Amino acid sequence: MADAGKVYLVGAGPGDPGLSTLRTREIILRCDVLVYDHLANPEFQKWTRPDCELIDVGKSPGRHTVPQEEIGKILVSKASTHNTIVRLKGGDPFVFGRCAEEMSVLDAAGIDYEIVPGVTAALACAAYAGIPLSHRDYGSSISFLTGHEDITKESLRVDFAKFAEIGGTLCIYMGMSKIEEIVDRLLQGGMPKDKPAAIVSNGTLPNQKHVRCKLGDLVKEAQSDCLKAPAIIFVGNAVGLSFQRSWFENRPLFSKRIAITRSKSQGSQMKQRLAELGAEVLELPLIEVVPTEDRKLVAEAFSGIATYEWIIFTSSNGAREFMRLFFLAFKDIRSFGPMRIACVGEATASIFRAYNLEVELVPKVSTAENLAQELVATDSLDSANVLVITGNRNREVLVNMLETVGHAIVDVLPLYETDFADITHAKDLADFKEHGADAIIFSSSSTALSYIEQEEDMSLSPTAQKPILCSFGPETSKTLIENDLSPDLQSDRPSMDSMISALIGKFS
Ligand code: SAH
Repeated sequence: MADAGKVYLVGAGPGDPGLSTLRTREIILRCDVLVYDHLANPEFQKWTRPDCELIDVGKSPGRHTVPQEEIGKILVSKASTHNTIVRLKGGDPFVFGRCAEEMSVLDAAGIDYEIVPGVTAALACAAYAGIPLSHRDYGSSISFLTGHEDITKESLRVDFAKFAEIGGTLCIYMGMSKIEEIVDRLLQGGMPKDKPAAIVSNGTLPNQKHVRCKLGDLVKEAQSDCLKAPAIIFVGNAVGLSFQRSWFENRPLFSKRIAITRSKSQGSQMKQRLAELGAEVLELPLIEVVPTEDRKLVAEAFSGIATYEWIIFTSSNGAREFMRLFFLAFKDIRSFGPMRIACVGEATASIFRAYNLEVELVPKVSTAENLAQELVATDSLDSANVLVITGNRNREVLVNMLETVGHAIVDVLPLYETDFADITHAKDLADFKEHGADAIIFSSSSTALSYIEQEEDMSLSPTAQKPILCSFGPETSKTLIENDLSPDLQSDRPSMDSMISALIGKFS
């Protein structure tokens, strides 16, 4: 098959997309077809190109939706029509991943392949639950075992009694449905009832749960509702070493589902911050920010840049866009001239501080109105040339005050527009509607207004969790209240840091 594509048998890691390798990401970003199953986090699908074909071969415990032979056929058939096919597997492809079977099929069809290893569940679950697998004094060998390789096979393939003698740390994959039998065999093999053991379920994910106990109590513990598949069982002396706290599960927003509504470009930083604190973040962009510069206006503003006494930024979008255009027009930061800079909030100001440009004014409360008031109070506006960089919203009040109260000569340079984004395009919408969330964050009045307009498209199923409504400061709350919605949580200031402190205060 001369023109056949290449199949990448790729390890996705255990769940947390942060544990995938650079190679995995690189190939998913450019693949033509992604063949995945339930162990690979849905987040990976978001990395694909918009025209990538997604094929769910969703194997769940006890339910092989697409039989293994069929998966082989899919890979062969897709390789005859596409260049880059990714077969994404949970953890590592060679650890109980049936990778060898897929290699044989590809070999037989003469199709080229590459194997990308991944972090296997045992290593990741142990790390995220703080369970050491080896220790100088308590564990000198580590074994990876499987409870069942095939759910249809009745008996255990592994001779657990022998492993009881070998000792060290046992990491048992796919063991939950046969846990009673496994524990019996280990005890028969001479392992004491008080041998330390643990179960980690949904390891590395926002719904991770784990228990530590003695081998004799393992079956009873496994019946707990919270320990759902996929789960891995650990047995061994090192497993018993306990540390003060669980670094992963004790993070302040652990397991909270938080929906964010900012534009896609602004949301990613917030998503990362919340995820680092343990939250599961749903992206529901309710607004989009579109650059709309008028070339003539930009050229005029830049040609007179030395004549302005103040330049005023009402948002970080405007600030970023201004600096992008600035460096297209000028090579040297000194062309910025001596004008003083005022910004609506700290996030906007930080964009200029990164260039070592001093920001003269940031109002105590980050609204356009407060910015105008504090500027007027500087007594520096009378007959001064002022350039306002802004979007299409909230600019009238600012410009009016600068002109009528401050007597400034104002030029307005609109650089972007904030529009409502069509929520039905959001990839996380179905998940939100089905399961709901603990909180939904409105980061501006525009996100709140867009929500109100599209509330019907976001309506929750009867069993979904109803989120608390969180608002970025008083302006956004006012918009919600005017539309008969009452915010349950309001951050002190309209900033990400302030909202994060409020969420931590509420949830931890
Ligand atoms: N190739 C995979 C293992 C596939 S077998 C790897 O290297 O990790 C499937 C088993 O892996 C599950 O039954 C469970 O025992 C374990 N497993 C996979 N992901 C897991 C997770 N996030 N948490 C706990 N166990 C997991």
